[in-house]
Amino acid sequence: MLLGVGTIRDASITVFVAGVTVMPALAVDNWPLPYEERLATRPSAAIDLVVIHCTELPDMRMAREFGERIHYASPQTGNSGHYYIDLEGHVFRFVADTRVANHTFGYNSRSIGIELVNIGRYPYWGDSRHQAFTVPYTQAQIDSLRTLLAQLRNDHMNLHWVAGHEDLDRRLEPASDDPRIRLRRRQDPGPLFPWPQVLQDSGLQRLSPPAEPSR
Ligand SMILES: [Zn+2]
Repeated sequence: MLLGVGTIRDASITVFVAGVTVMPALAVDNWPLPYEERLATRPSAAIDLVVIHCTELPDMRMAREFGERIHYASPQTGNSGHYYIDLEGHVFRFVADTRVANHTFGYNSRSIGIELVNIGRYPYWGDSRHQAFTVPYTQAQIDSLRTLLAQLRNDHMNLHWVAGHEDLDRRLEPASDDPRIRLRRRQDPGPLFPWPQVLQDSGLQRLSPPAEPSR
């Protein structure tokens, strides 16, 4: 099959949680990255964690371009999440759950990465004067995220944890405008992400390892 051209809409799936709660149907557009088949495979049982990200880019087109970029020479792969949720709540799958995507340093082999389109600090990621996240997530995004999390819980029996990228990667780097200032490289999904709403009835617990000494 030709990869990276067009999208395929999966059949809608209704999710039943604990036989009681019926979540709305979730439609996922399958849109595999050109290098998806070069990413390592893993069994479903290896997945125990979901990591929430935001793209820190203005739209899905730029997020796709970023995901398609080759960063690693051998094999030829790049950085991306598994799922992307746009501002209207549409869900796209760039990488199958049973492939290891490069999205969170040190946690890739056990986790699924979900990226929410949100402008974040764009285009001043490394600038100490522009570190605030100012644009809220849309309710459509959060509704789709909750449905997707229920679906993933249904699909992967060991999935019990959820974390923000900011919880798991606390590395610092010099600010682009003043190298004496050291900034957190990863701050997504940031202070505007509605954790209580997302965690409620999700069956997932937030994983927040203790901070390591700054490097
Ligand atoms: Zn991230």
